[in-house]
Amino acid sequence: MKNGRVHNFNAGPAAMPLPVLEEIRRDLLDWNGTGMSVMEVSHRSAEYAALEREVDADLRELMGIPERYKILFMQGGATLQFAAVPWNLMINGRAAYIDTGSWSSKAIKEARRYGEVEVAASGSADGYRKIPDCSQLEVAPDTDFVYICENETIGGLTWPEERKPRTSAPLVADQSSMFLSRPCDVSRYGLIYAGVQKNLGPAGIAIVIVREDLIRDVPDPKMPTYMRYDVQAANGSHYNTPNCWAAYCCGRVIKSLLRSGGLEAAHERNKKKADILYEFLDSSSTFTAPVERESRSLMNVVFTTGDKDLDAKIAKDAADVGIVGIKGHKSVGGLRASTYNAVSEESVEALVSFLKKYQTTQV
Ligand SMILES: *Cc1c(COP(=O)(O)O)cnc(C)c1O
Repeated sequence: MKNGRVHNFNAGPAAMPLPVLEEIRRDLLDWNGTGMSVMEVSHRSAEYAALEREVDADLRELMGIPERYKILFMQGGATLQFAAVPWNLMINGRAAYIDTGSWSSKAIKEARRYGEVEVAASGSADGYRKIPDCSQLEVAPDTDFVYICENETIGGLTWPEERKPRTSAPLVADQSSMFLSRPCDVSRYGLIYAGVQKNLGPAGIAIVIVREDLIRDVPDPKMPTYMRYDVQAANGSHYNTPNCWAAYCCGRVIKSLLRSGGLEAAHERNKKKADILYEFLDSSSTFTAPVERESRSLMNVVFTTGDKDLDAKIAKDAADVGIVGIKGHKSVGGLRASTYNAVSEESVEALVSFLKKYQTTQV
């Protein structure tokens, strides 16, 4: 392990790229010749305004975001967007949600407070081991939007492209745990949002990419001003004091992705890592990966020995040798390795050899 750092498979907050952490350390006392850290500059200064313009431009370049979309930085993480999305977008008071596991279920529960939610498809009958095919999905004409959680972080599922809904209603996606992990055709969506602590930066903010025609005057006077997309868009995401620190860190990670070949290259690296892990799991007699092959996440690899106590022991033994964060989410148990952008192939190889050794001594 380099610099005393562990192999970090945490689900979020999660690993950050080491070269970016080194840049951040270098900038900490004197950011950009200001004689201050980025936490100490005014959010109304010319330097900070330049940083905001740069992050906006870099993210547009990296994802290929069309002009007609606005990028908002909002506090409250992805969870605040569970409320902000329906509150801003339910003009007719009706939306269709696809239930694929823990995070979509949470979003559904929250959206029901703001309007009528139709669960248009669900993976629950399959034990959430498979993403339902929604390519032929039809929704009522006054449906305000169709909602998916594009990567279920806890269950370890990702939407295969060909199963995504294609309706006339705008598609909304929670991309928190796969944001910037692969190319994305933004024009297929009405709105994309992502909490940034999985693949991008420190926890606490969400990036919202929203098509301009969906930014409207919200009729509900009870809606907190902070949560209104029209207000955030009109104020360049600083209606109040923004989280300058998080925006700066995300900006550094976006730059490093641009430097390392963009999202195509990131996807290749992520596929390779996930392949190494799934191939091992599929060939193992000790471990199984329960998710259907086509629905498997490249970011959150869920697996188990089928024995609760053994799973717990493996997670603990792993941590003892510097392989951190492979305990499954408390709601589902088992094991999970999150292999986000910043997790190296070398870390994945280290995990596999650890699990292999374990296998031969335990069988
Ligand atoms: C982590 C996560 C969230 C919650 O993010 P917070 O920033 O903690 O609110 C929501 N959706 C998905 C898919 C996640 O992975």
